[in-house]
Amino acid sequence: MRSIIDYLKEIVFGLWSLLKGMKVTGSYFFRPGTIVTQKYPSNRKDLVMFDRFKGEVMPHNEKNEHKCTGCGICEINCPNGTIEVISKSVITGDGKKKRAIDIHIYRLGMCTFCALCVKTCPSNALAFSQEFEHAVFNRALLIKTLNKPGSQLMKGVE
Ligand code: SF4
Ligand code: SF4
Repeated sequence: MRSIIDYLKEIVFGLWSLLKGMKVTGSYFFRPGTIVTQKYPSNRKDLVMFDRFKGEVMPHNEKNEHKCTGCGICEINCPNGTIEVISKSVITGDGKKKRAIDIHIYRLGMCTFCALCVKTCPSNALAFSQEFEHAVFNRALLIKTLNKPGSQLMKGVE
């Protein structure tokens, strides 16, 4: 049977463990000027994500041009079928047939952000953006077409 001394010892030990656990939290709480958390979403307009953040993929320039040739290498290299590249044949200015991107499908809900597609794209057509607000009520909205409507292949990309 436990004595009253053992009982009191356990209480003291419990309190000491609690204080030890709260040491880091407490040091931030009482350190003036230290930012511990960010007030999201009230800081949404000014929020800058860190450089390594991985959001969505395939940038376009201000002329609505991208660098995707429709080669399909990203689809082959994606380990979980997140990407589907549908290509088409186009006739170039000199009358030759050439493969071009028709639809570049990206299933954001399946993406693990492993970056294999970005690293292996021979045209550097893919890059991670800073977009981070991906929450939707309908899962179908996470299936995206990366090439924007009316976009063209950037000049000089073969
Ligand atoms: S994104 Fe890159 S790897 Fe994927 S189809 Fe386009 S050019 Fe090829
Ligand atoms: S980041 Fe990885 S999982 Fe996501 S699309 Fe690219 S290769 Fe696939």
